[in-house]
Amino acid sequence: MATQRIIDFLATRRPAGPCLVVDLDVVEENFGAFRKALPDSSIYYAVKANPAPEILRLLSALGSNFDCASVAEIEMAMDAGATCDRISYGNTIKKERDVARAHDLGVSLFAVDSVEEVEKVARAAPGARVFCRVLTNGEGAEWPLSRKFGCVPAMAIDVLVYAQSLGLVATGVSFHVGSQQCDTNAWDAAIADASFVFQALAEKGIVLTLVNMGGGFPTRYLKDIPTAEAYGRSIHGSLVRHFGNHMPETIIEPGRGMVGNAGVIKAEVVLVSRKSASDENRWIFLDIGKFGGLAETMDEAIRYPITTPRDGDAMEPCVLAGPTCDSADVLYEKKPYPLPITLTIGDEVLIEGTGAYTTTYSAVAFNGFEPLRAYVI
Ligand SMILES: *Cc1c(COP(=O)(O)O)cnc(C)c1O
Repeated sequence: MATQRIIDFLATRRPAGPCLVVDLDVVEENFGAFRKALPDSSIYYAVKANPAPEILRLLSALGSNFDCASVAEIEMAMDAGATCDRISYGNTIKKERDVARAHDLGVSLFAVDSVEEVEKVARAAPGARVFCRVLTNGEGAEWPLSRKFGCVPAMAIDVLVYAQSLGLVATGVSFHVGSQQCDTNAWDAAIADASFVFQALAEKGIVLTLVNMGGGFPTRYLKDIPTAEAYGRSIHGSLVRHFGNHMPETIIEPGRGMVGNAGVIKAEVVLVSRKSASDENRWIFLDIGKFGGLAETMDEAIRYPITTPRDGDAMEPCVLAGPTCDSADVLYEKKPYPLPITLTIGDEVLIEGTGAYTTTYSAVAFNGFEPLRAYVI
């Protein structure tokens, strides 16, 4: 949310145009909260949530590991000080030459979810450790990850056996319960699936050691969310229930939960208008929209808290839209957003909880608008 440091920065620097300001103190607090909530799990920050070098350097110095989805992300993590043993290549869809490049850089932990991908890894990164991602149903997540990644647990068994037969080290199972997952029990079914795969492999003489429990930890938007501690308790309970005395090594990969609440976007009202004299909702156009970094408003999935200089005044529901000439660039219309009746052209608004999945989603120059500028303080 808007910390005093962010408010002071905006007041003194007065940056022109829309921009994101990230407070590193909040990232550090979040890292500490995850470490405390799940003291036995290693933290692999999901770089895609916000790859700003300052954030990666801070997390590297704090001892975080990194979940990377591409060679470029691996290089960013290494530039920030992470050694190759602290990096996992967590994307299940990789070009073979990118696997080879990661292998050359020393990365030795790879995600797979098919025998076809296993063959690439076996050729390009011989002897590497692989974990197989299993599907989850994504229920309870506000930004579900659908069926794009993972395979059913029965197939994961075949994938890992095949990996071992090709000279790779079958290491474990991963999953992602869906982003902005507000149900603290959402990990239970996937941990049960992981245990099932562990047992099946053990019967074939292969000892798995790692459960990668992914991300999904939420950030607070308009509704309260459970604490990191509550997630830790629930996940620990599930591990005990499904693994008993044979506790595996575990990893978590927070992205949104690590940086979401550390960032605030400053934006400006460009136009306030109506579509007809009798239009019940005013339209508020900001200088940032879906293509400037607010892509997660797609289907109105993520509803950001917005504060204005006129928050004491009476409110009315408004349609909120971005500045580009694309009719998809509407943020909230199906469920209009309450804003002060007095809100007017030129007012500055703060869009909170925008530290994750904003800068990386902003287009380079759609309609000539600059990509979202970021200040990390
Ligand atoms: C995106 C992603 C994450 C981070 O997810 P959040 O919901 O932001 O915590 C973690 N792991 C993998 C493999 C991902 O693709």
